[in-house]
Amino acid sequence: MKVITRFAPSPTGYLHVGGARTALFSYLYARHHGGQFELRIEDTDTERSTQESVDAIFAGMDWLGLEYDSEVNYQSKNLERYQEKIEQLLANGQAYYCDCSKEILDEMREQQMKNGEKPRYDGRSRELGLTKTDQTVVRFKTPLTGEVKFKDHVRGEITVANSELDDLVIARADGMPTYNFTVVIDDADMGITHVIRGDDHINNTPRQINIYQALGMPVPEFAHVPMILGDDGARLSKRHGAVSVMQYKDDGYLPEAVLNYLVRLGWSHGDQELFNKEEMIDLFDLSGVNKAPSAFNTTKLNWINQQYLQQADKSRLVTLLQDRLKTLNISVDHDFDLSAVVKMFIDRAQTVNELADMGLFLLQPLSGYDEKAEKKAFKESAIEPLKAVIAKCEAINDWAGADLHQMIADVVTELEVGFGKVGMPVRLALSGQAQGPANDVIMQVLGKDESIVRLKNALQYIEAKLN
Ligand code: GLU
Repeated sequence: MKVITRFAPSPTGYLHVGGARTALFSYLYARHHGGQFELRIEDTDTERSTQESVDAIFAGMDWLGLEYDSEVNYQSKNLERYQEKIEQLLANGQAYYCDCSKEILDEMREQQMKNGEKPRYDGRSRELGLTKTDQTVVRFKTPLTGEVKFKDHVRGEITVANSELDDLVIARADGMPTYNFTVVIDDADMGITHVIRGDDHINNTPRQINIYQALGMPVPEFAHVPMILGDDGARLSKRHGAVSVMQYKDDGYLPEAVLNYLVRLGWSHGDQELFNKEEMIDLFDLSGVNKAPSAFNTTKLNWINQQYLQQADKSRLVTLLQDRLKTLNISVDHDFDLSAVVKMFIDRAQTVNELADMGLFLLQPLSGYDEKAEKKAFKESAIEPLKAVIAKCEAINDWAGADLHQMIADVVTELEVGFGKVGMPVRLALSGQAQGPANDVIMQVLGKDESIVRLKNALQYIEAKLN
């Protein structure tokens, strides 16, 4: 049997982390088994579905590299097919028209709650033989006895008595079919063998299985993946930070890192943390999916991203850095070698955005000096060392070939002071910060002219401060 899976998002927002993980698991399962992975846009809710959301789903899947095999299926283009199947159920007496108004349903509900019963449609129109009006919905005749049994790949065996299920609406009064119906028709027509989805749908599954059986369509296998929690244990939501996949792109994460993070969110393979796509495909199986919900952990995501950043091709990082600087509206001098920034900070940055932030002082004139460091380092005693370093810098002709580390060491020796007395004010003058890369490395990247300008600016600043 050829495995066919699908991702079936409703286009009512961006592609969020939970959706992307479901898509990834479906994708990996199909690829692992040499099968097919399909995308279906569930856009029958015309009020909530938007083209913008459809585009956001495409963008997210594209960025993560979750390629699907056939043309995208749109439910909104399949209405005739649903209608045909609804007619079939009606003709076979497996569905019926119901004209219960909202008031009647509310009353029914209230009464049941009062009696301590589970609120449900009581089937009062089931045998009335009503005909269609613009007020009638179509309800599916759920079997009155028996049970639905299925073996969920994550949850194990699940059994639900039909007496627990009521006659669900499969078409609204305006004729629009409902989710539980359309999903069955499409999964059957698309030949889906494994439905992998969030466990918020687990209560729908027995209802859907009854519909498959009524239509004589093959029932797929199911895997319901536990939800994702925020680090505080509540269901992951916007207030936990970025939940849109594309936000991670904007925040400077690499797609392969996000993919790696997502696969570990609810799936494990021994203690292994890092998986490239080939390994994921090779190793993924539903048996490795955890039953318990998984918590989103930004620290871990950052760690994974850092691992991928360090392995990434340097020219790719330069391009990403350029994009980030463009977003920040920072123009870079043509001669400036951004790979120097990458080299300087790649061991410390966890995201491309951090890389840009760390390198910003090299690309823009300094906006000021770190306050605490300035109090310590920009004193009378800094004047002589700065003047000495400036004089030595001015005397250098071949800047690229110069040993700038030795140059500073010479000043230290000549002035007979500790290294910090020279190093600290120079670093602050060059970078505005108390900590960072070595002074000679900074000067090499800044070039002779800019280094001297910054040293002179600092000198002026100190002298003005002392007067
Ligand atoms: N369209 C449904 C949703 O976005 C998913 C349906 C399914 O996977 O069966 O929640």
